[in-house]
Amino acid sequence: MRLVLVGPPGAGKGTQAQFVAAQLGIPHISTGDIFRANVAGGTELGQQAQKFMDAGELVPDSVTNAMVADRLTQPDTEPGFLLDGYPRNRDQAVVLEDLLANRSIGLDAVVELVVDSESVIARLLDRAIKDGRADDTEDVIRRRLDVYAEQTEPLVGYYREKSLLRTVDGVGQIADITARILDALTN
Ligand code: AMP
Repeated sequence: MRLVLVGPPGAGKGTQAQFVAAQLGIPHISTGDIFRANVAGGTELGQQAQKFMDAGELVPDSVTNAMVADRLTQPDTEPGFLLDGYPRNRDQAVVLEDLLANRSIGLDAVVELVVDSESVIARLLDRAIKDGRADDTEDVIRRRLDVYAEQTEPLVGYYREKSLLRTVDGVGQIADITARILDALTN
């Protein structure tokens, strides 16, 4: 299965993506995780991405799209993949579509994890304490939520029109939410 998971920062995408991908036997591809690993490793890609990440802005599409295109050529993506945090705007969605179309494949579904903004902010502040992520400070959190609303949320309508969208309630116990996602994908 070729899947995309979309939802605001703090919706629990990373956690759910991990469980859902394991359950379906496909790789979990988180662009945020790849960027963070590159920042930690001091690579050129990390250096290109860091200032945008620290500000809560999107890393430029040219950088992000090339990185994803490269990742999707890895043989482990043959049975499918779960993209977490990509695409994040319309241009990325079109690039992904073209990339897959060139191989005569396409997405099977896009799961939107719906979480109210109070729960999102509470989770992000909680994560800031536990994980110490550089972009989990209050100002940057606010900017990331704005960027989501402005650039990423429109993708929900985009994928709804393509009949790919599955909307899932992202509030509750972790295992319950995983079950809801798997249910939405099989029904
Ligand atoms: P995430 O872990 O998905 O919240 O991503 C953390 C940060 O990485 C974001 O705030 C962006 O700066 C960057 N990032 C992750 N995915 C993308 C993407 N698809 N396009 C641009 N920037 C991204």
